[in-house]
Amino acid sequence: MLKLDLQAFAVPFRRTSKTKKRMRRTHLKKEVSAMTTCSKCGANIKPHRACPKCGNYKGEEKLNIKKEEE
Ligand SMILES: [Zn+2]
Repeated sequence: MLKLDLQAFAVPFRRTSKTKKRMRRTHLKKEVSAMTTCSKCGANIKPHRACPKCGNYKGEEKLNIKKEEE
């Protein structure tokens, strides 16, 4: 019923070598998001944002975080 003409398909001329495959995939990697450390408590935080742990931003407390855990 279904006749497949093999000449109609685009077929790779050569098998891709390990090196070529790996060279191509060097661009396929996850980017690590930029992180800085809080100047007050030293926690890993995102830049240009108040610290979620102590609320510190540029030397001032911007967020009201309860300190009952300590
Ligand atoms: Zn902090």
